[in-house]
Amino acid sequence: KQRLVQPESRPDDRLDQALRPRRLADIIGQDSLKENLSILIAAARQRGEPLEHVLFYGPPGLGKTTLSHVLANEMGVEIKVTAGPAIERAGDLAAILTNLRAGDILFIDEIHRLGKAIEEILYPAMEDFALDIVIGKGPAARSIRLKLPRFTLIGATTRLALVSAPLRARFGAVYRLDYYSREAIEQILSRATLLLGVHADAEGIAEIARRSRGTPRVALRLLRRVRDYAQVRGAGQITAEIAREALNLLNVDPLGLDDVDQRVLRTVIEKYNGGPVGLNTIAASIGEEPDTIMDVVEPYLLQLGFLDRTPQGRVATPLAYAHLGLPYTKNNQQ
Ligand code: ADP
Repeated sequence: KQRLVQPESRPDDRLDQALRPRRLADIIGQDSLKENLSILIAAARQRGEPLEHVLFYGPPGLGKTTLSHVLANEMGVEIKVTAGPAIERAGDLAAILTNLRAGDILFIDEIHRLGKAIEEILYPAMEDFALDIVIGKGPAARSIRLKLPRFTLIGATTRLALVSAPLRARFGAVYRLDYYSREAIEQILSRATLLLGVHADAEGIAEIARRSRGTPRVALRLLRRVRDYAQVRGAGQITAEIAREALNLLNVDPLGLDDVDQRVLRTVIEKYNGGPVGLNTIAASIGEEPDTIMDVVEPYLLQLGFLDRTPQGRVATPLAYAHLGLPYTKNNQQ
């Protein structure tokens, strides 16, 4: 089932491409990351070299792909986009690598999902800009080395822990993306309303921002739905009241939680007495994939301070009880 607040891309997000900032200066928020990237760019330019290999990690929808395109624009190079699961055979990767030109960026999303054999082709490619190809089979097999242009690999992952140590070590720069502040999301929304020609007042934007989980992709999606509602039920203007009505109707609560988040919290609180309870147990109780809980539900609940991660499992905090309007009963853990 598709969630409105799901931070991963959905087909109806395609329009967002037009809203993607193209220059580093247009990126809202992520100030320290932006500064680091501008130094990385300036240094590469001064040396007349391609960018170092860069790894971005963090929850989905925070701008990893956008930043990679921005880096390509700033460097004036082409970017080829692919994803870990899309590269199935060694030949797929070899074809991509041999088609790059010097300075080009290869962007691999979900890089933690690359197969082991594929990863091993990447090591010499990243380090020595070389492609080792084995021709023939059995005793007659031999390996030839092709030279590759000096390219830049940008990897993106939601799960740094699943990127193998040897792969991680080959990135010159590793950056974490964090949830955006409420103010930054408001600015992103304001910029989008200008570009889309949507009328929204400051309170309307604030209401959407509050429910956007600190995630630009979610903010833009909620904006589109509220725009529809304003058009059909209101006078076309997004006000706080219109935004509230629209998002309540869509079951996105005032902090941006939907029924999946709420079920996770209720499971921990009502079924497991507030925890600690393991993530797989939670996932099984509500019939969701553990990966979904781990990648998209839990990080935001941790960020809100609704869940704590302990060695024994997840624990619901008093804030979570309060948000659900439940009395806080200290669980039997001492
Ligand atoms: P990720 O690759 O991390 O999943 P994306 O780069 O695809 O995320 O970003 C999701 C959407 O959010 C993009 O379509 C882009 O328009 C918007 N976006 C992301 N970061 C920003 C930002 N800093 N400022 C404005 N819009 C942003």
